[in-house]
Amino acid sequence: MLGRWTSSLLSRSSRSQYIRAIKHARPISTVSRPATRYGQLAVVGSLLGLGGYYLGALSHSTELAGAAKPVYGTKEDFGRAIKDLKAVFPSEDAVSTNPDDLAAHGISPNTWHPGLPHSVVVYPQSTEDVVKIVQVANQYRMPVIPYSGGTSLEGHYLGGELGGICVDMSRMDKILAIHEADSDLVCQPGVGWMEINETLKDQGIPLFFPLDPGPTATIGGMLSTGCSGTNAVRYGTARGEWFLNATIVLPSGEVIKTRRRSRKSSAGFDVTKLFIGAEGTLGIVTEVTVRLAPLLPTTVAIAQFPNVRKATEAVVEILNRGVGIQCIELTDAAYMHATNLYGASERKYEVADHLFFKLQGPSAASLKETARIVQEVVKKHGGSRWSLAKDADEAETMWTDRKNALYSGLAYGGEGTKGWSTDVCVPISQLPELVYETQQDLERSGIKYTMVGHAGDGNFHALMLFKTEEELATVRELVHRMVERALALDGTCTGEHGVGVGKKEFLVEELGPGTVKLMKTIKKVIDPHGLFNPGKLYPDDDELAH
Ligand SMILES: Cc1cc2nc3c(=O)[nH]c(=O)nc-3n(C[C@H](O)[C@H](O)[C@H](O)COP(=O)(O)OP(=O)(O)OC[C@H]3O[C@@H](n4cnc5c(N)ncnc54)[C@H](O)[C@@H]3O)c2cc1C
Repeated sequence: MLGRWTSSLLSRSSRSQYIRAIKHARPISTVSRPATRYGQLAVVGSLLGLGGYYLGALSHSTELAGAAKPVYGTKEDFGRAIKDLKAVFPSEDAVSTNPDDLAAHGISPNTWHPGLPHSVVVYPQSTEDVVKIVQVANQYRMPVIPYSGGTSLEGHYLGGELGGICVDMSRMDKILAIHEADSDLVCQPGVGWMEINETLKDQGIPLFFPLDPGPTATIGGMLSTGCSGTNAVRYGTARGEWFLNATIVLPSGEVIKTRRRSRKSSAGFDVTKLFIGAEGTLGIVTEVTVRLAPLLPTTVAIAQFPNVRKATEAVVEILNRGVGIQCIELTDAAYMHATNLYGASERKYEVADHLFFKLQGPSAASLKETARIVQEVVKKHGGSRWSLAKDADEAETMWTDRKNALYSGLAYGGEGTKGWSTDVCVPISQLPELVYETQQDLERSGIKYTMVGHAGDGNFHALMLFKTEEELATVRELVHRMVERALALDGTCTGEHGVGVGKKEFLVEELGPGTVKLMKTIKKVIDPHGLFNPGKLYPDDDELAH
């Protein structure tokens, strides 16, 4: 019955792919039968629905969360799995064991958490291909690590001692349908948010997808990290309703579609959300419907402030005035110095704490009115040197100077510099304290740094620069203290980058053991063999025991 319900939600083409996949599937003795698995999912559903009562019924989840550790195949099993994958995908470039490829997918240039090469990288082109990969993984009990744009920052897709199949989704990069009248778009998970926006622009469709993380991030990874970016002030994050539905290959090899395309639905609890921020540990996203927003005129302004406290006070008042603000970014004096040195634009900035504003409105008159109100509030809080872009080109240059944070920061460190960019988030009113104390801590440490914050969300990053192992050790401690500071201010260890391996250790402190046990219980029900992205997101059982 539940299996029928699932497949009836699949689009006709996905459904026929799914049926073909099932027909050609080899029997897998290790995979539970669908009915049983959906029975277990129903247990998870009722647990989610009864969140309020859950604390009183912890023993059930504790039992499930503490279930036996997964047992994986041997090296020989994995060798056989790779052979099978090559037989299932005979085309020359679909399965790679090239050492450079394995290392590029298992060791991230964006993080300082250690990684190892995966055992094999497979490049699927359809949902059906992904099902086949998962079937092989089940047969040989081999870990599966999804990979999209590869821009995540907390070691989300790193390879480990276990080895595993890295599923690179980059060839599933098609936009399947654009529904302008409904303001939505259906795509495969390997499409980048920038490509979506370029395609809409090229086709003259006045809509855009507002989530804007790393430039080459793609929809599957963005959904899976619960990302956001500079536009979150106006449009919120991946946890809003930007992902209307997703087609997912579960660890059992079963395909589900989480919801239909209507803009609203209150049919049961929100299964799509279960996968947002799941970091590839619960399923592989193979198709997504994203919601689009009207593309409105914008312009950019900057102002400088005597200190970050004053700047943040201005942010709070501007947000409460309800004017048309798309983004508010806080940059410190070191950041402005780095931008001047980097020299990507001709503009030279005062070396002082700044706010960058992206103003938005339906008409030139509304932008003008917003600029007037924002300037007034800036002045009230000690801001000066207000500068409003005189045209679209200047607005773009100013915004690019903000977007070049990583590159200008690394250049500021000098040759051979490496950077650790971290991310915490607090209620906006606590941001001045967080930023001020972090600045003091960074100054005391002697580490070179730049600071930039999505100030309109209370989300704050510091790029800490280092060249030696000793400096790296200092940076690790600084990151740790920054997270502890955010937690003490009722914040989170990650506002947008996610947990990966880097923030696992903070999860119990932030969420409490009951909530983490519930997350682990859900994981164990959906992925009882622990195949999907092991070692990421969930703290180890012994950490929960403390
Ligand atoms: C310069 C730079 C700037 C950045 N700025 C921001 C920012 O402003 N805001 C922000 O939120 N982030 C930012 N990031 C981080 C990064 O861009 C985001 O985390 C992004 O969402 C990751 O997407 P990706 O496609 O690169 O995913 P990947 O790094 O490939 O994967 C991320 C995670 O998702 C899983 N995954 C990937 N594809 C799938 C799939 N199809 N199904 C299931 N699981 C999958 C992976 O296993 C992994 O756990 C920045 C990164 C860089 C390098």
